Amino acid sequence: MIEKKGYFGESGEEYIPVGYIWARTIPCQNPSCGAEIPLMRQFWLAKKSNKKVALYPYVEGKEVKFKVVGDGYEDMPAGFDPSKGTVKGAIATCLVCGSTVDAKTTRRLFQEGKAGERMVAVVLHNPKKKGKFYRVANGKDMEVFGQAEEELERKVEELREKWGIEPIPDEPTPEGKGKGAERAFSVRNYGLDTWGDLFNSRQKLALITFVDKVREAYHRMVEEGYEEEYARAVVTYLGLNFDIFATYNCSLARYRGDTESIERIFDRQALQMLWDYGEVNPFGKSRGDWLEILNFSVRVIENNSKI
Ligand SMILES: [Zn+2]
Repeated sequence: MIEKKGYFGESGEEYIPVGYIWARTIPCQNPSCGAEIPLMRQFWLAKKSNKKVALYPYVEGKEVKFKVVGDGYEDMPAGFDPSKGTVKGAIATCLVCGSTVDAKTTRRLFQEGKAGERMVAVVLHNPKKKGKFYRVANGKDMEVFGQAEEELERKVEELREKWGIEPIPDEPTPEGKGKGAERAFSVRNYGLDTWGDLFNSRQKLALITFVDKVREAYHRMVEEGYEEEYARAVVTYLGLNFDIFATYNCSLARYRGDTESIERIFDRQALQMLWDYGEVNPFGKSRGDWLEILNFSVRVIENNSKI
């Protein structure tokens, strides 16, 4: 199981990561700068009437760093407007030198594979306390993520052999030709050309592992003497559960400060590029957690069975 190996932060700690906030990055195109630009629509972590917390970017040398500011943290610096991010309409602003990267160049950098991504913040929950907490992502978080990346390589090989197909979907994303469609499927302008490109490594690991477990559940049920039709029905529901799970577990899932949670993809019927995204901890007991989704589905099934 992924949980036991701690690919989403160590269990048993006081604060449990429920999600991670990532920013895609591009290099500044000013030849005398070249700093990494974290692309963020905005910097709000919590934007509620009674709780205002933000990620404050500051420059050290040629590097953009962050700290958490606002209610319960360091004071929000005067003049800082968290609503103003570093990117708007694909035009990016370098926080180190102040120069901008035009939309066409931003797209080109993505298509040429010169864009990256950076984990910027961790959303935490403490079972003994109310509400969400935040901290800046650190080396340990990246180390854990790196372990998940390594495990992904191994798991892909194992499942390729076991399933006889490519475990990470390599089918192309829609090209979005026609009126409005290009915008709706704008991921294509940024080199996210296959469905597999819509997930980070840890999300891929989580997804293929859950698929494997769902498939295994069917065989186990049959082995244990359940009727085949019954086993098939259960696995069908688990498959539907997986579909919802995948909509949370992708790099087009938005982090929302007004709800302090990660919003799944398809709240709009589109595959639109997202500069910064929220990565769910599937075991974080918060929105996007596998069991939370399953409990919801079970309630629907039970209720509908009463009719
Ligand atoms: Zn710059």
